[in-house]
Amino acid sequence: MAIQESDLMQKIVSLSKRRGFVFQSSEIYGGLKSAYDYGPLGVELKRNLMAEWWRAMVHEREDVVGLDASIIMHPDVWKASGHLAGFSDPLVDCRNCKERFRADKAPKVEAGTDIDYLEGGKKGGKKLKAKAERSYVCPQCGSPDLSPERQFNLMFRSNIGPVDVLGRITEVVERERNLTGADLRAKIEEVVKESAVYLRPETAQAMFVQFLNVQQTMSMKVPFGIAQMGKSFRNEVTVEHFIFRSCEFEQMEMEYFCEPGTQGQWLDYWVEQRMAWWRAFANNKDKFRTRAHEKAELAHYADRCYDIEYDYPWGWGELEGVASRTDYDLKKHSESSGTKLSYFDQNKNDPATGKPGYRYTPYVIEPAAGATRGLLVYLIDAYHEEAVPDAKGEDATRVTLRLHPRLAPIKVAVLPLVKKDGMPEAARKVVDTFFKAGINVRYDEQHAIGKRYRRHDEAGTPYCLTIDGQTLTDGTVTIRDRDTMKQERIAADRALEVVQERLRKI
Ligand code: ATP
Repeated sequence: MAIQESDLMQKIVSLSKRRGFVFQSSEIYGGLKSAYDYGPLGVELKRNLMAEWWRAMVHEREDVVGLDASIIMHPDVWKASGHLAGFSDPLVDCRNCKERFRADKAPKVEAGTDIDYLEGGKKGGKKLKAKAERSYVCPQCGSPDLSPERQFNLMFRSNIGPVDVLGRITEVVERERNLTGADLRAKIEEVVKESAVYLRPETAQAMFVQFLNVQQTMSMKVPFGIAQMGKSFRNEVTVEHFIFRSCEFEQMEMEYFCEPGTQGQWLDYWVEQRMAWWRAFANNKDKFRTRAHEKAELAHYADRCYDIEYDYPWGWGELEGVASRTDYDLKKHSESSGTKLSYFDQNKNDPATGKPGYRYTPYVIEPAAGATRGLLVYLIDAYHEEAVPDAKGEDATRVTLRLHPRLAPIKVAVLPLVKKDGMPEAARKVVDTFFKAGINVRYDEQHAIGKRYRRHDEAGTPYCLTIDGQTLTDGTVTIRDRDTMKQERIAADRALEVVQERLRKI
């Protein structure tokens, strides 16, 4: 059934809440803008997604190992990486409708052209016209009447240790009575920075900083990678599209260290690998594409970069970036820390001198994906509606989350047809075999069987095992497939084996 694109997000947000995937954070207090909680099914989906990434990137590879670093790192890490100075968005306020937005994400226009917009951005407002001074306009009302761009650091700052920051600021203000404006602000900034720490805005930097420890302890030979997944924090100015962009989110990143000169081939390799991975779990594989960055778009340290994009209900947007970051990060951290982050290959000759042994700073390819953004992509990909008559034979819409079985929060629901006649006991026996095999199974006896099927269709549960009267006489159960609704009878004591077979990686 075709769903209006504009309705799709609304349906997904509503299903996420109804079925316990995603809740607004602190909802009973009115919610915190751009913060979300992953409910009973959401946490399972997120974990499964991240476990699949870990499996593909670490467990199934001899050349990649893992890391789980601190979220709060030494502040010099962020100075060296450029995040303290440069990790900012150009921020603009609209003078007409007061919207605050990111200049780099605003609708583009040709500078110098006349633009029509409405006063206050409202219907019925006076018609206005102005010349566009910049190459973009307000995303809310289309006005070219904008404040100057301001840089805004996206890192969350806190202070570490038993320091009374407010007390220290008060001292400065009292002592420096002759200072005002920018000078006073600079003095206060100095005091705050003495004990300042930052929540990491990406997981990547720890992999550079721990390059030597990881390489040496695991005797890794270039090319090799270090992978990490976990929380990152950005004080995003515009938060949008549900969990697409939030201030606290999860990333899955890998730094792949390679010999200078080989980065081009490794970039192509990783773009292909990552694209295949996203598609492997999706129903609509043509909704993913790669987009090469234009020269002007490249970060200053990157020599090439691709975005893996998804066709969201509001259009194509980033899901993962795969960047060739040169030797920028390792060199910066070497300079800044005084520890040389390089690699010695004793089997190669130095290309400059021709002598045996080659010491170099590895180049890096970085596939950087969003786990929470990935979760949204798979919810969108899985959402499916079809017209199926209900138990009374009346027209009804069946909503299914066609999640890949390996991502599905609950793999199997075991349902006694009725709550009596020994069926619950027989069902619990089946449940037990799944517990022992470590497969997430749910025993569910509430409501009529049809209602339970629908509930598990919406939860994305790929298989329902139903225990009925026949189970008690011949030891068989039915296994129902979420997508086709087909039911087959199988021996109850083979149920685990049958499900395991179906869950095996494709
Ligand atoms: P965007 O252009 O969308 O702001 P970015 O280029 O800043 O993203 P990266 O720094 O490359 O993003 O981060 C890698 C991945 O982390 C992104 O592709 C995205 O999936 C995810 N990500 C980044 N910022 C956020 C956020 N605020 N909320 C959720 N996911 C995010």
